[in-house]
Amino acid sequence: MERTTVIHKTPANLRPAPHWSDFEGARRNFSWDLARDALQGLPGGGINIGFEAVDRHAGGALRDRVALRFVARNATPLELSYAELARQTNRFANVLRSLGVGQGDHLFVLAGRIPELYVAVLGALKNGTVVTPMFSAFGPEPIATRIKLGAGQVLVTTDLIYQRKVKQMRSQMPSLRHVLLVAEDGGFTFEPDTLDLATLMHEATDEFTTVSTQADDPALLHFTSGTTGTPKGAVHVHGAVVTHHATGHYALDLHPDDRYWCTADPGWVTGTSYGIIAPLLHGVTSLIDREEFDAERWYTLLEQERITVWYTAPTAIRMLMKAGADLARQHHFPALRFVASVGEPLNPEAVWWGQEALGLPIHDNWWQTETGGIMIANTPAFDIKPGSMGRPLPGVDAFIVEHLEAQDEAPRVRVIDTPDVEGELALKAGWPSMFRGYLNNEARYRKCFAGPDNAWYLTGDLARRDADGYFWFVGRADDVIKSAGHLIGPFEVESALMEHPAVAEAGVIGKPEPVVGEVVKAFISLKDGYQASESLRMDISAHARRRLGAAVAPKEIAFLPSLPRTRSGKIMRRLLKARELGLPEGDTSTLEGGA
Ligand code: AMP
Repeated sequence: MERTTVIHKTPANLRPAPHWSDFEGARRNFSWDLARDALQGLPGGGINIGFEAVDRHAGGALRDRVALRFVARNATPLELSYAELARQTNRFANVLRSLGVGQGDHLFVLAGRIPELYVAVLGALKNGTVVTPMFSAFGPEPIATRIKLGAGQVLVTTDLIYQRKVKQMRSQMPSLRHVLLVAEDGGFTFEPDTLDLATLMHEATDEFTTVSTQADDPALLHFTSGTTGTPKGAVHVHGAVVTHHATGHYALDLHPDDRYWCTADPGWVTGTSYGIIAPLLHGVTSLIDREEFDAERWYTLLEQERITVWYTAPTAIRMLMKAGADLARQHHFPALRFVASVGEPLNPEAVWWGQEALGLPIHDNWWQTETGGIMIANTPAFDIKPGSMGRPLPGVDAFIVEHLEAQDEAPRVRVIDTPDVEGELALKAGWPSMFRGYLNNEARYRKCFAGPDNAWYLTGDLARRDADGYFWFVGRADDVIKSAGHLIGPFEVESALMEHPAVAEAGVIGKPEPVVGEVVKAFISLKDGYQASESLRMDISAHARRRLGAAVAPKEIAFLPSLPRTRSGKIMRRLLKARELGLPEGDTSTLEGGA
């Protein structure tokens, strides 16, 4: 297939007709007030995520549609209709009430992708209780740190996770009043100081009136790791539901007949905003696979579950690529109509792989914990530029800024109007899902804003905007390499390395060097079937020089069996750098396979 710089949409990519096709017109006519009108709302001007996601449909035409379909190896699929989900979330909200847990209290969930987790998150939201999802693979330390920082009063987890990871830390979490346990693996081991969720659910009633939360009332607290210090708790509000709905429409093109699969774990923000909330808002059927990644299984699920819209991540795509084209060719995906990816840079290679292996290009999109929802995206409405994260969605104003000399702590920035110039990605504040603070850290929050009236949110990402308004990710502000006066984006280098047939993963850092400041060093893991050797190193190096020019290509290449990643899949360049320089590794609580 010829690899062009733009992938034009074809009628085959656009069935059914997408929600929009006129980028400029849609942006011009959009307002967040109008977007809110698409939702129902509650008496007294209230708005509640759980109500909009579940009850709005449970009382209407979609009541019997499957909302969530859980699949697992060696188990019969379990389905919850919208009406059943409404009943169960009501029961859970009543459980919280009976325990004296109310609006503004903090509930944490820590479990795999089990039905009880989804019921707890949505039921708690209906009760006005603030929810923090945690990744079930976290070890005891990060779990306790987060519950302590978030002053969690209730924890929903499984008996096994409790025994292995929570019990021994309980004394360090004085705020924790109730631990509700779900039985794993059939049996249930009673633990002192805990409650059996199944019994409580059985005793609770089906009737519950959702709390009429206001748009600015806290709904979710998502922890995100900084480069230093403890994790930051980003506070999100119920009004965020307007962004979740609008982005499900504009970026994921959800239609009510879709069978949708978001592969992100609900322990991370994508798995909450787009694995739980957005698909329910659109009344679609969501697939939830309880198993971990397995290439053969994923292709089979896409095919047999007749998935129409698939939202996944670059790491998963690269793992599928690594498993080889032959495996993909054994499957067919006639139902699949839209594929999107988020979380880290999506190399052009991966966009093209989608076209070749799935018959559809992959739509990269950009957002972060703090934005609460998708901000910049490749969408059905316009052509894809492989390697670009797309254009700002309706209601989102994105631009590139440069930092000026700051007089004091507060950042001072200026907008860069010239296309193709690198700077920090900024967004005009005011979209509904914007975080409203870092918990107990007002100073850190304030530092994220600059410009007139402090109305520009600084994302901490470096990017550039081209003349057509597409944004191109360069790196995190602290990852970018300066070599001989040139800014070099590690993503650009990694993308080029990834094009080499032997390269499975690449992570690139700036290694301090006295003459040019920094030289580019690449760490590479190889695809199955390739052996590290001097001649392969030279071959990859020559390829990179060819693709990038000598000033940008890595001066050093090292082979590693695999690269350190966060549990959400991002290559930890910071850790590669620390190891390279023999410096302390810092907080590695989010390292995959780590604590
Ligand atoms: P998180 O808050 O964990 O979701 O991480 C957000 C960060 O992931 C962003 O600030 C970016 O650095 C990175 N990121 C997310 N989406 C993309 C994307 N499409 N391309 C490049 N980087 C991305």
